[in-house]
Amino acid sequence: MAKIRVIQGDITRQMVDAIVNAANPSLLGGGGVDGAIHRAAGPELLAECRRLNGCKTGDAKITKGYRLPASYVIHTVGPVWRGGAHQEAELLSSCYRRSLDIAEEHTCTSIAFPNVSTGIYGFPKELAAEIAIRTVNDNLERLLTIDEVLFVCFDQENYSLYQSHLR
Ligand code: ADP
Repeated sequence: MAKIRVIQGDITRQMVDAIVNAANPSLLGGGGVDGAIHRAAGPELLAECRRLNGCKTGDAKITKGYRLPASYVIHTVGPVWRGGAHQEAELLSSCYRRSLDIAEEHTCTSIAFPNVSTGIYGFPKELAAEIAIRTVNDNLERLLTIDEVLFVCFDQENYSLYQSHLR
């Protein structure tokens, strides 16, 4: 069964088959982790993203990784936090599930997730960590090609939350 690991760091530096991007619905680039991924991957990434016609909240789309160490980028669109009564939890869970599905379709063996929606989109970090870990855990047994799921936390607060949830 796949192993889960948590580290604190920059997702653009991870040597995994696929890194997940916390994108916006246009897939045309933004700030935060999205900006960092586009800068590190080079302009070819944006060119490919332009051909995808965007992505719905809770869904994901895959591109190549270009200049990144990762072969693929899986762009998922997390929900904007609007108080919690707008399907935010279900949509965030769906981001993790769809990203795993797409990674498996591309026979990836390793995948790295950022803390989707917990930056500009304002999702409470504690709840987001709980949902991310639960969703990955609930899907571990059915994964065939993936043997490692990495949570890459950028800030100390998320890193501490993930460490305590995974303990
Ligand atoms: P969203 O719009 O989904 O909230 P953000 O990019 O604003 O997306 O934030 C998502 C998470 O990504 C935040 O926890 C932020 O700290 C983190 N982050 C920002 N830059 C990086 C990076 N280079 N590697 C990994 N995580 C990052």
